[in-house]
Amino acid sequence: MNRNQSRNAGSNRKGKSQSSAGGRNNGRARGGAQAAAVVDAPVQKNDEVVVDIIGLTHDGEGVGRADGFTLFIQGALPGERVRAKVMKVKKTFGYARLQELLDASADRIVPVCGIYDKCGGCQLQHMNYDAQLSWKRQHVIDALERIGKLTIGGDDKEGVVVHPTVGMTEPWRYRNKAQVPIGAGVSASGSQELIAGFYAKGSHRIIDTDECHIQHDRNDEVVRIVKTIGRELGVSVYDEESGQGLLRHVMTRTGFVSGEIMIVLVTNGRKLPQAEQWVERIRTALPEVKSIVQNVNTRDTNVIFGDETKVLWGSEVIYDELDGIRFAISARSFYQVNPAQTVELYRKAVDYAQLTGTESVIDAYCGIGTISLFLARKAGRVYGVEIVPEAIEDAKRNAKLNDITNASFEAGPAEVVIPRWREEGIIPDVIVVDPPRKGCDPALLDTILAMQPERVVYVSCNPSTLARDLQTLEEGGYKTVEVTPVDMFPWTSHVESVVWMEKRK
Ligand code: SAH
Repeated sequence: MNRNQSRNAGSNRKGKSQSSAGGRNNGRARGGAQAAAVVDAPVQKNDEVVVDIIGLTHDGEGVGRADGFTLFIQGALPGERVRAKVMKVKKTFGYARLQELLDASADRIVPVCGIYDKCGGCQLQHMNYDAQLSWKRQHVIDALERIGKLTIGGDDKEGVVVHPTVGMTEPWRYRNKAQVPIGAGVSASGSQELIAGFYAKGSHRIIDTDECHIQHDRNDEVVRIVKTIGRELGVSVYDEESGQGLLRHVMTRTGFVSGEIMIVLVTNGRKLPQAEQWVERIRTALPEVKSIVQNVNTRDTNVIFGDETKVLWGSEVIYDELDGIRFAISARSFYQVNPAQTVELYRKAVDYAQLTGTESVIDAYCGIGTISLFLARKAGRVYGVEIVPEAIEDAKRNAKLNDITNASFEAGPAEVVIPRWREEGIIPDVIVVDPPRKGCDPALLDTILAMQPERVVYVSCNPSTLARDLQTLEEGGYKTVEVTPVDMFPWTSHVESVVWMEKRK
């Protein structure tokens, strides 16, 4: 799982494989693949095979074929020939471990990070950056064609224009937020103590980490400081197995423009012993800190935050700036993690909205009103809707902070609030949506079609659900004109894109 984005949590590989296997019920016992050899698979567990890699999955694993049988091989790149050991065989595919590169791709590079092999955070550090950008564009095209049934245009061919991925000139140290699990284990220095770092691939075993090359270095520093203070104060650490122990996670966010820092200690219990000591030591080590917050999460869950948030010291928000607009960001609000690329993404979204100053625009899934305020500078009126009430409070505060008076916000599910707006007579010229990974609720898509805006701008962090939703909108009378992928998450397999759709005349 991607370490830092709850929005990107969970791979859908599992869901996919289950449905494809479940679709062909040939009577064989479930789970037989692990227990015994799969009778008709041409490879078996522990076989060593030579595989030609022909593609990458959405998770960035190499896809190869051995005797026509599909194998997923982490760390292998398209065009490579590798020797691999089969680890797991299912009915229609298997997993193998890379043993040796027989023919390496010209796109292969040496990963910058020393724990890249173990950490689950990045998936593409073995691929050069330009190749990543091309792959991300191709990944969007594949989804639009296969799932969305769209025709992609090219040189002389009519169809959807998919632009090259907008990349970063310096694709490192781009994240403003780190969310790091804390536990007990062997630290980088070799002793058994409080550790904090990232989950090993596919597990919840914490790897003690002092440096992450995609993080703002301030965030690395915060994690190191919190570890030191935790060790010195002898805080107990949370153990997932037993549900015992206090400190679960540290979350830190740094404003790239403002330099302001927020630190959140997530605890399994309301009482944080020596809270004053924590505050004093953090402030001494990090004078830039503006907000120290405790969040209480006593549930046995993978969700990082609990419902209760208390300010231990300072402000309940930090401020940051995107393209000259200031934002107040509270602990639990969604705020894009890559500020440089966020500006690129939002500018593109505003561009696609083609505003002249008079339009009514709806911004669905608006978070703290970031896209809404970008739009408000060019529109007549903007209506933002978002499900997290604290984010809507932030959005309202953000409009005031920037003297923006033509944007209003409402908390609630977009699929409930927007149909009500329709009944109240709001007629949008443009609707912008930026849903989480699962895409738009079908009821929202129905409402968009009923409202008949001139234009829809779709910002998406998941090409599959994007393609599915575009198809629904296409069937309802909209035409996909352009798509621009924007690389928000270099070195990971995550792909963000922004799409311009027009009402068919
Ligand atoms: N546009 C914002 C936020 C995008 S993330 C930005 O760029 O910062 C997606 C947002 O959708 C999150 O803030 C999440 O809380 C919100 N969300 C999730 N389900 C929702 C729903 N059914 N209705 C409205 N908002 C929802």
